[in-house]
Amino acid sequence: MVRDVKSFGSRYGAGVRKKYKKIIDKMKEPTRCPYCDKIVILKRISIGIWQCKKCNTIFTGGAYVPRTTLGKSFTPEEKVRL
Ligand SMILES: [Zn+2]
Repeated sequence: MVRDVKSFGSRYGAGVRKKYKKIIDKMKEPTRCPYCDKIVILKRISIGIWQCKKCNTIFTGGAYVPRTTLGKSFTPEEKVRL
């Protein structure tokens, strides 16, 4: 049991890398903008802050993907015209 800790550790590391790649891939996925209703690739301005390239609306969302982990659509809290 104790001897297996080392191998478990390396497997855990691989899992994290795989998960991280999944997150990065998800960031590149087009998302429907709730304002202009266009399918766009949102630009991440800061952690949890996203901008639609089409209408320049800035809104908050998940830290890494513009959606909550529950799979719900994010709720725009603020509309900023640039
Ligand atoms: Zn938009």
